[in-house]
Amino acid sequence: MARPPRRPAAPASRTTTFTVAMPRPETHLFEITMRVPPFAAPVGGFDLVLPVWTPGSYMVREYSRHVRDLTAEGPAGTPLPVVKVEKNRWRVGLADDPARGPFTVRYRVFAHELTVRTSHLDATHGYGNGANLFFYVEGRKDEPQRVAFDLPAGWRVTMPLPRAGGAFRAADYDELVDSPFECGRHRVLEFRVHGVPHTLAIWGAGNEEPRRLLRDLSALVKAGARMFGGLPYDRYVFLVHLSPGARGGLEHRASQSVAMDPFTFAPGAAYRDALRLFSHEFFHAWNVKRIRPRGFGPFDYTREVYTRDLWALEGVTCYYQELLLVRAGLQEPKHLLEEMAKALKGHRDTPGASVQSAELSSFDAWIRHYRPDENSPNVAESYYRRGSLIGWALDLTIRRATRGRRSLDDVLVRVFRRFASRGLAYPDGAFEKTASEVAGRDLTGFFDRYVRGVETPPFERLLPAFGWALRETPEKDGEEQPPAKVRTVADFGWKTKAESGRLTLVEAYAGRPAHDAGLSAGDELVALSGVKADEDELKRLAREARPGSRVEVTLFRRGRLLTVPLVLGAWRAFSYEVVPDEGAARDARRLGRRWLPAAR
Ligand SMILES: [Zn+2]
Repeated sequence: MARPPRRPAAPASRTTTFTVAMPRPETHLFEITMRVPPFAAPVGGFDLVLPVWTPGSYMVREYSRHVRDLTAEGPAGTPLPVVKVEKNRWRVGLADDPARGPFTVRYRVFAHELTVRTSHLDATHGYGNGANLFFYVEGRKDEPQRVAFDLPAGWRVTMPLPRAGGAFRAADYDELVDSPFECGRHRVLEFRVHGVPHTLAIWGAGNEEPRRLLRDLSALVKAGARMFGGLPYDRYVFLVHLSPGARGGLEHRASQSVAMDPFTFAPGAAYRDALRLFSHEFFHAWNVKRIRPRGFGPFDYTREVYTRDLWALEGVTCYYQELLLVRAGLQEPKHLLEEMAKALKGHRDTPGASVQSAELSSFDAWIRHYRPDENSPNVAESYYRRGSLIGWALDLTIRRATRGRRSLDDVLVRVFRRFASRGLAYPDGAFEKTASEVAGRDLTGFFDRYVRGVETPPFERLLPAFGWALRETPEKDGEEQPPAKVRTVADFGWKTKAESGRLTLVEAYAGRPAHDAGLSAGDELVALSGVKADEDELKRLAREARPGSRVEVTLFRRGRLLTVPLVLGAWRAFSYEVVPDEGAARDARRLGRRWLPAAR
């Protein structure tokens, strides 16, 4: 890797100031002026670096491709030579005339990607993530930062940083990058919990009902505060983007960005799903943003930062997003049980679950989770899903071992108190060690099997200790009533996609008929035993064809017509349901009530 010509000495209490202007937002160009404060001693040059990734979204995204027109000036306004020396690194040269500064850097950034982790500017608003927009000076990332805005008339700005004069201030570059902003004419709603101000900024027209939303979010915040014994921040911002079909969230220490469909706020399943997203990102204010492994702050923004714990950071958060909603009275326990049962079914139906452990899935997030392909289901299992099941099983295991006196709450609270509340990253193995300590027994076997290994926790055995049972519920078949017994149906073992009248194979699952027959993703299905291949025909075959019967699959592959014989497999069509165990002993029911109080 290239090095700056001379490592700059960084004096204390120097503030880098960014001014973000957007004179023509419809061009999607942020115009940024960066004032670099003087160095401690004259320098012969310095490097400007832009992150390649956004913390919380584990993929190298090469934000520097959107930077243009970068120039630098010395103290007297003299233009300085700038050379790009790496994909995300610009070198300002002063070799002939070393100086301390201050220096001024100007550049523009094209921002037209509407996701929670990128930046988006148009005539309606400007949304910014520091990782896409703000450079740091090599060696001076730990110095204070300020950001000011030069806004179009009638626009305002919301961001989680404290205001200082006409600007916002951050203690260091990490805090700046961790503080997304929203500019425009968005709606702003406010509430307080335990005296701490919370702001909700909503961009996009939707059907939100402000009073209900504020009441529900404040119940959520209170549930988090109850678990950890207080709120870990001085202020918190919910940045909400309403956009058709949008779905996504990103956590920050004092804020969250979420994107959701505009018409998601009428009471019902869609609203519950919106609350689930708020709850997930909110729980991250503790788990990930404060309870964090080494490398998760201060960050190296120039390369991948690996951890084997995303199952605990993301997956356990998926489990708590449900628990927190139950504890806040925002969903019924049955909804938590439905979500967990759905996760278990998806997990057990994924061939990759027996290939990739939770630890490996975490480690490989950078090259796998964010880059799924047709082979993913056969070799990978999401650390979100597997992690949520591990979290659930660990909670039940601890509760069973301690007769309900302790739970996974105690593990998280202890790791929080020991490390996070003192500003420290936790050491490797902290979850496992603390879990054993809380359970009062060695849980190495649990971690060997379910975290480092590829076994699935035995919910069939765990749930009865809580007065619950895992039941296989027959899947409905079209318009009929659900059958009384789980039916065995004909199985292709593939996922197809219908588009513009064409049926294409998207995934073929290992160990099932399409995969065994040599069919591949991308095959365009034309006919099944001489009958036009479409979704109706697939449904008809699933209903009427017998497992073991032969189907001639006619398809186009790279423009050639082929016919491939396939022998239909047998598939038991069921979903899981967690139901009260009618024969449960009193003790089990009592333990179950401590876990999910109102559930039975
Ligand atoms: Zn998350």
